[in-house]
Amino acid sequence: MSNELPEFIKPFHFHGVDVSHSSGSEWTAECPICDKGEHWYVNDTNGMWECKSCGESGNVSTFLKHHHAQCLSDTTPAQYKELATLRHPIPTSIFKINRLAYDSDNRRWLVPIYNDTGGLSNLRVWFKVKDPKTGDYKYLFLNTPGCKAQLFGADQLGPKSKERYPDVPKGGHPHVILCEGEWDGMAMQNIVNKAKIEATVVAVPGANIYKDYWSKLFKGKTLWICYDNDEDRETSSGKIVNPGKDGMVRVLGRLKASKSKPKEVLDISWPSSTPLS
Ligand SMILES: [Zn+2]
Repeated sequence: MSNELPEFIKPFHFHGVDVSHSSGSEWTAECPICDKGEHWYVNDTNGMWECKSCGESGNVSTFLKHHHAQCLSDTTPAQYKELATLRHPIPTSIFKINRLAYDSDNRRWLVPIYNDTGGLSNLRVWFKVKDPKTGDYKYLFLNTPGCKAQLFGADQLGPKSKERYPDVPKGGHPHVILCEGEWDGMAMQNIVNKAKIEATVVAVPGANIYKDYWSKLFKGKTLWICYDNDEDRETSSGKIVNPGKDGMVRVLGRLKASKSKPKEVLDISWPSSTPLS
């Protein structure tokens, strides 16, 4: 059903709001905030919504903020502990700093991604699914439909970093470590905290994703790029690829072409057997 929905309705459906078309551009559902039935309306041309029962209203972004805040306040210590087991060696304190929240209704973790000024850019979800072909379980990491890709931790490099994270100076530390994937970013945050290293850790969503509008965040910084140390592998067309190394080379190329240059760029490549704790 999701693919047939209007673009502005998809984010609500994606987070479990049971929307149905009423008339024209109007859709209705049980209110995701007060749970009252059929008093909640959303417009499919702009994503603006309001509840006639509790009086709350907003756009897609305010809905995501509400949904995340509600799940965050409901997340139990036992749920954080379970995540720490799944994502060993990342401790629960790191999940809390990054405001990870468990969505019990949809049985998945919410990973909020903020832009440099602290606005919620994306609410990514992480959950276990069964592969219908092999029967094996695997984990998926998905973006909220329509949300812009953002660096995990970008708010730690922005003007409000000190208000949001007391240990981070305004605009972030002079040294920035760029990791591949949010979980690696959190594992690196843990190492940096434990070793009392003064560095700000951020992460791209995947090795092959780099957006030019991120480069301004690294201006004047010493940037350490620390992607996975993958083995070379051959594609079906006979090309040798190495996602981690190729990704780092791509970032270097984008930074060279950018007007906002870091002070210097260094890379960290470690053997895959390096312990993270
Ligand atoms: Zn309501």
